[in-house]
Amino acid sequence: MLSVPIVDREVFRRYAGRSLPRHVSYPMPTWWRDIGADEAAAIRAESTRAIPAPALSVYLHLPFCEALCKFCACNRTIMRKAAKDADQRTEAYVVALEDEIQRLGASVGTGRPVRQIHWGGGTPTYLSCAHIERIQKTLTAAFSVAEGAEIAIEIDPRVTSNDQLELLRRLGFDRVSLGVQDFDERVQKHIHRIQPYEMVKQCVDVCREIGFASVNFDLIYGMPYQTLETVADMIDRTIALSPDRIAYYHYAQIPDKIANQRGIHHDQMPDSDTKLTMFLMAVEAFTAGGYEFVGLDHFAKPDERLAQAVRDGSINRNFQGMTTEAELDLIGMGASSISQFTRFAYLQNVRDPDVYVQHMNADADPVIRGTRLSRDDCIRQTVINHLYCYAAIDPDRIEKRFDINFGAYFSDELERLKHLEADGLVEVKPDGRIELTWPLGRVLMRNVAAVFDAYLHRDAYRLGERHAFSTSA
Ligand code: SF4
Repeated sequence: MLSVPIVDREVFRRYAGRSLPRHVSYPMPTWWRDIGADEAAAIRAESTRAIPAPALSVYLHLPFCEALCKFCACNRTIMRKAAKDADQRTEAYVVALEDEIQRLGASVGTGRPVRQIHWGGGTPTYLSCAHIERIQKTLTAAFSVAEGAEIAIEIDPRVTSNDQLELLRRLGFDRVSLGVQDFDERVQKHIHRIQPYEMVKQCVDVCREIGFASVNFDLIYGMPYQTLETVADMIDRTIALSPDRIAYYHYAQIPDKIANQRGIHHDQMPDSDTKLTMFLMAVEAFTAGGYEFVGLDHFAKPDERLAQAVRDGSINRNFQGMTTEAELDLIGMGASSISQFTRFAYLQNVRDPDVYVQHMNADADPVIRGTRLSRDDCIRQTVINHLYCYAAIDPDRIEKRFDINFGAYFSDELERLKHLEADGLVEVKPDGRIELTWPLGRVLMRNVAAVFDAYLHRDAYRLGERHAFSTSA
């Protein structure tokens, strides 16, 4: 069994039970509102007027999957390839996506280099080679993809062929992210995702052979029937396969919102103390194995772009997880995709792929909701982002960027933070720098970020729980 650092479990339990956001956006989507086509168009136009307009990151959402994984919380549509309307629905979606790529290329893409492209899902490699090639060619024709852009795709080893991998490489993709989740057979059976170790290994070998610069794994801990032993084995096997980047996600069980999770029962899942140990032993093992611990739950080899981005101060966190450039406008396309315009707005498309296709066929804007950011939102977004990315807040950096006095602006928050400091989650340095402690602060990062989230406090005030997020009391 791997060793783990000592944590004050009593303090951990007091904080860990709170339901808090992961802050992949600020404000969180629950605070967004309906947005119509005119406002969406105005936001996009505004994004092009900055001088210079920020470079772009492009996200494409491909929602289809062959089979449902019980734990899945993504926006996906299960469609057996053998289904009689599968070809027709896939083709309709691809046509709609190509249309949106062309529209947004013309409205926000002009003169702005694309420095990142990410295909997510769903299962992007559900698509045939012909569809993959068509979409990527449409994208490169509609936008100016910069030399050396990072081009990434999520792949499912169960459905991804060598032909698809070779095509992706030829099209310029340089990073693949494999949905691995766990190697244990009993766990795989229960979550309806049978994916033997040999299958993952073979996929990794092919990716290496044909020259992908970075191979990433997505792993999940806290799932049904995982034990410390099975998770230790998953970690060992992962290190043996040597991915360049690892995302080690905590399984979020929200059956009220995600119907497919209703077949997973609490008595099958590890308790919160065991999950803490699963997390700590992963940090120990991956760092001992040569990885750098990045943000909340990512690990990267020192020469991987993510680890470099931490060192050069360009790391960012958004709906795609940890990314490598902080000041890009993110343009999301496809059903449910989100666009993030640096420092001023979010927009999200309709969730249902068929409704998305109907919008595109009717020449309508598929945007359904979003928000414009206030100046206070921008400041807090940056503070929270720094906390997740660097495990620290540097008041000096925030003051210079926003021309504020950090101590005066966040006087209430700094007062609340004193309780977390007393409980050992943060250290406030003599120069005012706020650092998360290891392990307690890193583990409870979301509790610290919550202190700076004005909307959570608005919620708490509304509910009459003025101190709900502020103290250990
Ligand atoms: S393959 Fe991925 S997106 Fe599809 S159901 Fe499984 S976890 Fe969800």
